Amino acid sequence: MPTPPSRPGPPPRPGDPRRGGPPHRPPVRPGRASSADGPHLSRRGFLTAVGATLAGVGLIALNPFGGGESDVPSVRVLPGAASPPDAATHTFDTVIRNGRVMDPESKFDAVADVGIDGGTVTAITAGGSALRGGVVVDAAGLVVAPGFIDILSYEPNEYGIWFKIADGVTTNLGLHGLRSRAVDYFDVWGSDTKRPPTHYGGAFSDPWSRSTLGLGVDDPASPEQIDALVKMCDEDLTGGYLAVDFEPEYTPGVAFDEIKALTEVAKDHDVPATFHARYSDDVAPGTNAEALSEVLHVARETGARVHVEHIISTGGTYTMQQSLETLEQARKDGVQITACTYPYDYWATYLASARFNDGWQERFHITYGDLAIVGTGERLTPATFARYQAKNALTAAYAIPEADVKASLQADWVMLGSDAILEPGDKNHPRSTGCFARAIGRYTRDKKVLPLMDALAKATILPAKLTEGGADAMRKKGRLQIGADADITVFDPKTLVDRSTIEAPGVESEGVRYVFVDGHVVRDPQGNRTSVRPGNAIVGS
Ligand SMILES: [Zn+2]
Repeated sequence: MPTPPSRPGPPPRPGDPRRGGPPHRPPVRPGRASSADGPHLSRRGFLTAVGATLAGVGLIALNPFGGGESDVPSVRVLPGAASPPDAATHTFDTVIRNGRVMDPESKFDAVADVGIDGGTVTAITAGGSALRGGVVVDAAGLVVAPGFIDILSYEPNEYGIWFKIADGVTTNLGLHGLRSRAVDYFDVWGSDTKRPPTHYGGAFSDPWSRSTLGLGVDDPASPEQIDALVKMCDEDLTGGYLAVDFEPEYTPGVAFDEIKALTEVAKDHDVPATFHARYSDDVAPGTNAEALSEVLHVARETGARVHVEHIISTGGTYTMQQSLETLEQARKDGVQITACTYPYDYWATYLASARFNDGWQERFHITYGDLAIVGTGERLTPATFARYQAKNALTAAYAIPEADVKASLQADWVMLGSDAILEPGDKNHPRSTGCFARAIGRYTRDKKVLPLMDALAKATILPAKLTEGGADAMRKKGRLQIGADADITVFDPKTLVDRSTIEAPGVESEGVRYVFVDGHVVRDPQGNRTSVRPGNAIVGS
């Protein structure tokens, strides 16, 4: 069995006892704000976080949403954050005033003012506290949340990335694997001409990398080829990639020895192995249960963190409740496994792909009329199926029970991942442009499937925690706390909704009013500011 080449370990990090750093701060229980909870500010601190001039203010009842005082989560301060500036004399670069500030990690939820200096949140104070700002944004009636992190996007192409911004996304990660070496990826997207408005990063792709060695999708890798893949993977994780992606459904030749060797590299870098699992239906041979069993086997054999990509379409369709229970039990047994989902009752892929090999009707419990051509919405018949298959048309399949969508959204360890970014020509699944607004607007507000704070967690702190082990930059994202990065999405909770459809995938979501990336406004009520490109590379540390 090949083993990853040794490499110099990274320096100890705060909070990483495995590497000799100081012990991690204790977990913070939602709904409590005692001194044992780590770096919270107390209620008094909440009122005085902006400076000593207010330190004499007495305790004031402040709980716009009910509940006893001791149950109100308070503003959290990230470890290492600078002292808040003196509000009496300080002019913040930007102040977001009177919004409903929600931080899913601490569960803080109150009308508050947010002060930003440079790329950092430097103050969160009671609403109406009259912070002065060079730019002042009125967020009354709006939710002010950490910017959304899309872990399952792709290269941030100039066209599609602006639809992500309109959907509230501030960090665009391609954990489904990128089709380039890390050094080339960061060269391209870090260049002046290509730099995106969102932060960007991604994962080593096993399917693409093995193809560069001449391996066909059905070919198992030889020991020498596995050695070569291990070397590429180690270089790419050292070069900044944040995960190692496998896609056994698309590369059925990939065997356990290849997966294990590369997952050990992932573990060495403290990044997750992400899986487009091997099977996507409940008809033997080759079931969702077998697919998840393989992923769990990898986790147990390597001790690495693993992640199931889009469990809604691969690993859980028609078996969601049972699939979630399987993974829930594994989590209780200590396996570090997570999953992501997209909130749609149809998937989409190319009509010539293996998904449409003989027997697709039985496997996916659908027929011709459940297939629709993306871009026109035309429903298929046996005759038109053959014609479009010859053209390899991108086709949506209404093959996901909505109960599975709801169940996946209700699991508190399942996060959101769009699994798409729109390309010019608008040929993509609507999830490429509406994933986040749909999860919050349709499934949270309208269908009441989950609380708003839980939905926000799936777009912010859960993806941050998935990636922060391998990338310190993610420790300041997915949070709205003092010291956090000023990546902030401000949306109207009454109107937020996706607008794109199979017929017209290229329609912006409705309701995202402001998007801040690294303190810069990239979207305001007039629309996207396409000349503003503050995106930074998110690289492994
Ligand atoms: Zn996939």
